Amino acid sequence: MDDRTEKVAQWIIDSQRTVVFAGAGLSTESGIPDFRSPGGVWDRYDPEDFYYQNFVSSETSRIKYWQMSTEMYEPIRKAEPNPAHLAIAEMEKLGKLDCVITQNVDALHFKAGNSEGRVIELHGNATYVTCLSCGKRYDRDEIQEQLRKTQKAPLCDDCSGLLKPATISFGQAMPVRETEEAYNRSSLSDLFIVIGSSLVVEPAASMPRIAKRSGAKLVIINRDPTPYDGMADVVIHGSAGPTMAKILEQVKLHALKGMASR
Ligand code: NAD
Ligand code: ZN
Repeated sequence: MDDRTEKVAQWIIDSQRTVVFAGAGLSTESGIPDFRSPGGVWDRYDPEDFYYQNFVSSETSRIKYWQMSTEMYEPIRKAEPNPAHLAIAEMEKLGKLDCVITQNVDALHFKAGNSEGRVIELHGNATYVTCLSCGKRYDRDEIQEQLRKTQKAPLCDDCSGLLKPATISFGQAMPVRETEEAYNRSSLSDLFIVIGSSLVVEPAASMPRIAKRSGAKLVIINRDPTPYDGMADVVIHGSAGPTMAKILEQVKLHALKGMASR
């Protein structure tokens, strides 16, 4: 493990454009379960119940959706960033992060200290709610409280449109600006570090391939194997928090040595 973390640390130091690509595995150590691991949401709910088309067309589906979504939001509300989020925030402070492209909806990159301009949220953000008709934004906690009291799918107080957490559901279009930006940054990166993603969900899963094809070094840090392991320059099958903490420790050590030798 040491050799590999050392290598990744050196690549971060040498890189001009490091892109971090994050999945649900980055946040499991913050107490937010991923979906695919045993006991995850997909063991208990049928994904078909959560298609966007069903949400917009049926009140029964909306109520089911809000039930599942409330269950998922509870750990997100309480979560604090773990050492992997903090390491990514520290990369930004050191000037060693082009951006983090995240599939997570938990907003923990911001809690950790990353700035708005460095985080690309591909699947939206669960900490607020939007009106599907007029786009008005609501605080998630306020809507959850209203839901708890009324047990009805919430509606916009301006236009009576349907309110939905600001996350991307199955069958819902990916956000255009974020997706384009993510493809663009992936193709321009010279170091692409995947953390905690199974790399099976498209179109996000094609980004490591694009980065690699454009000449970036590819690093994969994930507990379980992924379909891209064979293409990667370094693969670490381990926990995100301790691995990233170790890498950052080495980056900082090198940075200090660099300053001392000047
Ligand atoms: P996923 O398919 O990317 O799977 C998560 C991967 O993380 C798995 O391969 C697992 O081996 C790995 N992993 C788990 N814990 C880890 C750890 N501590 N260190 C390193 N690797 C670890 O993601 P998913 O669970 O199928 O979720 C699908 C989508 O649902 C996500 O893309 C996201 O949009 C949403 N989601 C978001 C959150 C969140 O915001 N925290 C949580 C669950 C799901
Ligand atoms: Zn509205």
